[in-house]
Amino acid sequence: MKTIIEPFRVKVVEPIRMTTADEREAILRRASFNLFQVRAEDVIIDLLTDSGTSAMSAAQWGAMMRGDESYAGARSFFRFEEAVKDLTGYENIIPTHQGRAAERILFASTATAGDVIPNNSHFDTTRANVEAGGAVALDLPCSEAAALQSKYPFKGNIDLERLQQTIDRQGRQKIPLVMITVTNNTGGGQPVSLENLRRTSEICRANGIPLYLDAARFAENAYLIKLKEPGQSERSVREIAQEMFQLADGCTMSAKKDALVNIGGFVATNDSNVAERMRNNLILTEGFPTYGGMAGRDLEAIACGLGEILDEDYLAYRLASTRYVGRHVSQLGVPIMLPVGGHAIYLDARQFLPHVPTEQFPGQALAVELYREGGVRSVEIGGVMFGKAAQHDLVRLAIPRRVYTQSHMDYVVEVVEQVYRRREEISGMRITWEPPTLRHFTARFDWV
Ligand SMILES: *Cc1c(COP(=O)(O)O)cnc(C)c1O
Repeated sequence: MKTIIEPFRVKVVEPIRMTTADEREAILRRASFNLFQVRAEDVIIDLLTDSGTSAMSAAQWGAMMRGDESYAGARSFFRFEEAVKDLTGYENIIPTHQGRAAERILFASTATAGDVIPNNSHFDTTRANVEAGGAVALDLPCSEAAALQSKYPFKGNIDLERLQQTIDRQGRQKIPLVMITVTNNTGGGQPVSLENLRRTSEICRANGIPLYLDAARFAENAYLIKLKEPGQSERSVREIAQEMFQLADGCTMSAKKDALVNIGGFVATNDSNVAERMRNNLILTEGFPTYGGMAGRDLEAIACGLGEILDEDYLAYRLASTRYVGRHVSQLGVPIMLPVGGHAIYLDARQFLPHVPTEQFPGQALAVELYREGGVRSVEIGGVMFGKAAQHDLVRLAIPRRVYTQSHMDYVVEVVEQVYRRREEISGMRITWEPPTLRHFTARFDWV
């Protein structure tokens, strides 16, 4: 088989400022070893997140010029609405400025204090929005998800037995909806199988509970179904995605992921009563229901991006680049979460730095070393982010869509290799200052 190449030509470039090792040392000290405090122009390869960091296409930029900025009933809204309806089949499409606004509006319009929301795994903003209204965010990942090295292909699945038990125990009145996150971001970008979605849908329908997708990475999930699920390889990814949406009654979407835009989102539902409550809620904080906190041009870019994301040449390249990094890093003996998911590679910092005790934040130490070695910015997902509740100490290398080439990825692999070679010299870190909440964004660190 031939190399899977980037299926695009570069039309506009953004320079990367190269830094020296000495500069990076000074930058790290100024940032108190917190990579969120490092300026983007001091980063060579930025793998902090794949959210809102996509490169837009010439077609998207062209569409933005057609943006209709009318307050009410803009042409751009109807193009956006048609694109989302065509993909999802849902009746009511409500634009929001990003995914968390969709979540806030959905949960404020459906859940009350004491309710329970089951999910394969809540994304952190989803959990926060469920809990903001006094409801309980319940994660029910399948048992295979716990083993980092297990190659089970659908580690994003929800545990169907525990879902049924939860419904039996709580009663359907306490469960305003069930949510499934595709792909399961918190669980490592692992996909949910069509089979698992179908059975979740059956359980929900049998109990009269609506099912919603958190659809941020629906296209990556659909493509992984095509690659891995028996009987799906002959179907188009669009068809698979459409079936995923049809198994649910609505969705929330962060367009900053699989709509290939830098800002935007939506919430959609077949329930007109819920839609009416959501539109009333939307007007309070987001805007009129035909723009929902976005400019008309943003709606155009999303409409266009939702088509481009289902291009199977794009998806083949997307998966090939995450797998490429995963394969090369694994070959060096570096421990990573398997199988490689859709949008990121997760280094297992506890195994990478076995001599660093978990109280000394091995994930933070590793993330800092990747920056120090080669200006690669990643994010710690472990003890710094979750405190003592952390089950793992991972370092996520999230790959922005259509931004970096294979040689950029070769460089990343080399940086990981250099750090791995001198891993025994790397010490742990301690926190010298922390804020009362969400400490990972602003905490200060030093070496132990
Ligand atoms: C990013 C993300 C969100 C939140 O979306 P924002 O656009 O960042 O507000 C929700 N769910 C998942 C799975 C995400 O990845």
